[in-house]
Amino acid sequence: MKALPTVVLKKGRERSVLKRHPWIYSGAVERFEGEAEPGCTVDVVDSGGTWLARGAYSPSSAIRVRIWTWVPDEMVDQAFLKRRLHSAITSRQRLGIEKETNAMRLVHGESDGLPGLIVDRYGQYLVLQILSAGVEFWRKEIVDGLLSLLDGIQIFERSDVDVRVLEGLEPRIGVIHGMQPELFNIQENGLSFQVDISGGQKTGFYLDQRWNRHILRRMVAPGCEVLNCFSYTGAFGAYALAGGAGRITSIDSSAEALATAKMNFALNGFDENEHEWLGADVFQALRTFRDSRRSFDCIILDPPKFAHTKSQAQKAARGYKDINLLAMKLLRPGGLLFTFSCSGGISAEFFRQIVEGAALDAGGEYQIVRQLHQDRDHPILLHFPESEYLKGLVCVKSG
Ligand code: SAH
Repeated sequence: MKALPTVVLKKGRERSVLKRHPWIYSGAVERFEGEAEPGCTVDVVDSGGTWLARGAYSPSSAIRVRIWTWVPDEMVDQAFLKRRLHSAITSRQRLGIEKETNAMRLVHGESDGLPGLIVDRYGQYLVLQILSAGVEFWRKEIVDGLLSLLDGIQIFERSDVDVRVLEGLEPRIGVIHGMQPELFNIQENGLSFQVDISGGQKTGFYLDQRWNRHILRRMVAPGCEVLNCFSYTGAFGAYALAGGAGRITSIDSSAEALATAKMNFALNGFDENEHEWLGADVFQALRTFRDSRRSFDCIILDPPKFAHTKSQAQKAARGYKDINLLAMKLLRPGGLLFTFSCSGGISAEFFRQIVEGAALDAGGEYQIVRQLHQDRDHPILLHFPESEYLKGLVCVKSG
């Protein structure tokens, strides 16, 4: 076996690797031995030279190595990648997701042992997103692996996210295999949603909220008035209607998202004209509602990521507190608040403290009746707390 380039860690900095955290930060690296192009495989040893792990080297990133394996004789090659892909795909089958939908995340990066790789499936279309130098290095092998594991698929790449810059990678969008994807209608828990694979947000749809939307459908009271903030293409609203809700007010700053949301209501047999649509900033709209004394029975707050890193957590906390406080003021007694944070830098505990602070300032008693997370096709890796990125609380206002 040919010797790999080697990353030698500083004394004492092997702890997180031994605890199976998949990231090694540049500050933990003592020196580099050998030559390696971005993304190529390196061995990681402790300061005494003991082998610890094997990972992908990313010279320009603060996350200098992303670990592929902790098994000394496991080589990183096409067969290794195919095994990991296979196990990710079969795990989704075992978890019963195909019974609920034809749209799901097949590969969720680090949580599936493939750091920096996202693969979402929309029917026969796979959407590939490459976020790390290591996955970029093995792009062809990964594509070949997917084509050999899944019949009749087409693959489209949406590597157009900002974090690629940190890995020294340019954005890339385009067809990898098959045709340019068209607008595609997915089925989710008996409802239909139009997904724009090549132009929508993320890879087209917020798949991670699937289970939480289902919980909303189960909890809404018949005829209740719902305020869906940061509605995107209206999925929470459509689920609420399917659960018997009355009028839905959807707010999003994106006119395109609202246009698709209206169509999604129609797709599911709901008349868009019976509902309210606001192309507006949620922070502003909530203030206007407060000043005009509007109130709702159920409010959903599903904002975009306010904190991209841990260092932005405090500033983000102010944003979360602001919208939660305003929403609590608009909520009728007995009303339901579904509130979320998808910021990786904000822990579940911190998020709960923020919501608690908002409740104190808003006045009123609240019970938490449910704690929510991303759905199971976005697994949380036990040794990797950062993978618990979506946190939600369902709160009931006393009344
Ligand atoms: N709940 C949605 C996903 C929300 S994603 C679903 O289940 O599909 C966040 C959305 O917030 C995006 O559609 C984005 O356009 C919108 N957005 C971001 N900042 C906003 C702001 N300040 N005011 C209103 N909408 C905003």
